Amino acid sequence: MADRLAAVRERLDAACRDAGRDPAEVALTAVTKTVPAADVAGLLDLGQTAFAENRAQEASAKVGEVAALRPDAAPRWFFVGGLQRNKVRAVLPWVARIDSVDSPRLARAIDKEVVKARDRGERDTPLPVLVQYSVDGDPDRGGVPDEGLAELTDLIGELDGLTLGGLMAVAPLDRTPEEAFTRIAEAAARVRAAHPGAVELSAGMSGDLETAIAHGSTVVRVGTALVGERRITSD
Ligand SMILES: *Cc1c(COP(=O)(O)O)cnc(C)c1O
Repeated sequence: MADRLAAVRERLDAACRDAGRDPAEVALTAVTKTVPAADVAGLLDLGQTAFAENRAQEASAKVGEVAALRPDAAPRWFFVGGLQRNKVRAVLPWVARIDSVDSPRLARAIDKEVVKARDRGERDTPLPVLVQYSVDGDPDRGGVPDEGLAELTDLIGELDGLTLGGLMAVAPLDRTPEEAFTRIAEAAARVRAAHPGAVELSAGMSGDLETAIAHGSTVVRVGTALVGERRITSD
């Protein structure tokens, strides 16, 4: 795992060099879906502190297991998957940012739970979120297409319980990464023009992080290249 992490960091540094960017501008998030808690603890030991999960139930259990294994560590957990509104309450206690907000209904549901938690005295800060952008509008992959992007980002800007951190996107496979990340960067620029605080662009995974970094990504989400194909079974 140390070798894999070093190799990914090297790819990231090289991509930044090629793009004329400072590697400090691009954060590495380890996507640990289906990865056992012990391996997450191993990544923490290697200095990796940002993790992303895509299933509420698996994630909530794992966050607790990792905290028990490494009580002194301070991992940050992001949520990057499809989120049902009735699961929002379960992720709120541990999630540092929800990166997959793709509808006004979901945004309002998260806001409502944040405000409730605030009223109960359980938190005193809004929750950062990213809007998941869809290049092609394919409903299976999630994300809001161009048509709904301004409405959703404006809504989040108005909600008390949320702060808009930027965009997250997954490049569709039916076009070149170059084309996909160009579109994604254009959408991110439009959002930034209207919401100057929305500076993050979470784009790029194991297979395409170089292209994403060339197009302005500030967060790459890497699973396979870090943890291999090992999989635990969970619901
Ligand atoms: C699994 C996943 C990743 C990581 O993909 P790899 O190809 O394994 O690096 C990134 N983003 C999201 C939303 C994912 O679900």
